[in-house]
Amino acid sequence: PLCTTDYCPLVRAMKTGHIQNTEAFLRHKLGHRVPVMIRSMPIRNEKGEIVGAVETFVDNSANLTTRRTIEELKNLALLDPLTGLFNRRHLETTMGVRLEELRRYGTGLGAILFDIDDFKHINDSGGHDAGDEALRVVARNLTANTRTVDTAGRWGGDEFLVLVERADPSALQMIADRYRLLIEHSRVQFGGAEIHLTISIGATIAQSSDTPESLVRRADSFMYESKSAGRNRLTMR
Ligand code: GH3
Ligand code: MG
Repeated sequence: PLCTTDYCPLVRAMKTGHIQNTEAFLRHKLGHRVPVMIRSMPIRNEKGEIVGAVETFVDNSANLTTRRTIEELKNLALLDPLTGLFNRRHLETTMGVRLEELRRYGTGLGAILFDIDDFKHINDSGGHDAGDEALRVVARNLTANTRTVDTAGRWGGDEFLVLVERADPSALQMIADRYRLLIEHSRVQFGGAEIHLTISIGATIAQSSDTPESLVRRADSFMYESKSAGRNRLTMR
């Protein structure tokens, strides 16, 4: 036989008596690899004993390409290309689902909305690329410091939104203020310069009467209170 190990689908088909479907690659004579689906079938004699096996190879490239395309489309639909965080559309969908859970099961939900302070100044003094790098630094802070059950995303421009699962007011306040401190102490390295960032935050606990729009609107108005009170602070109600 061409292969002798248990990993070989031909051997497995003979040992188990079951058809094996395996995805593999064959080398094309032009040098590239062609994805194939290998179907290995046991062959039995008239007594029902397995006496051999047969393999058929089917070109699998269409299947593989489709799956890759689906994966890419999923990313496009869910992720913000600059930061790799969830995009606004995904945040809106998640809020809808979480608010429905809140109404059905009473699970707490918190929203933390923040906006970078004087971000235009970074764009104006360091250029758009400096601004982009600052957005990535904020995003990395979010990714590294957000629990996997929570959802952090880019709401738009220099605004970010975190949805906190099962949040009560004191936990939400602690989490929001931790983001504020993390970003206050981060450094954006750009073109030999070091940029410091601060954020203004609005945080609020969802009510069962909330819609995604009303929840974000409330967090947004608290965020503006933080801006007018002098920036680099948290307003929560
Ligand atoms: P404030 O403290 O009041 O928030 O002041 P600000 O300068 O941050 O004002 P604002 O939040 O309104 O400015 C947002 C700016 O973000 C405006 C826009 O040019 C810039 N911006 C939005 N998206 C991007 C982006 O993807 N990359 C870069 N570099 N800048 C962006
Ligand atoms: Mg801003």
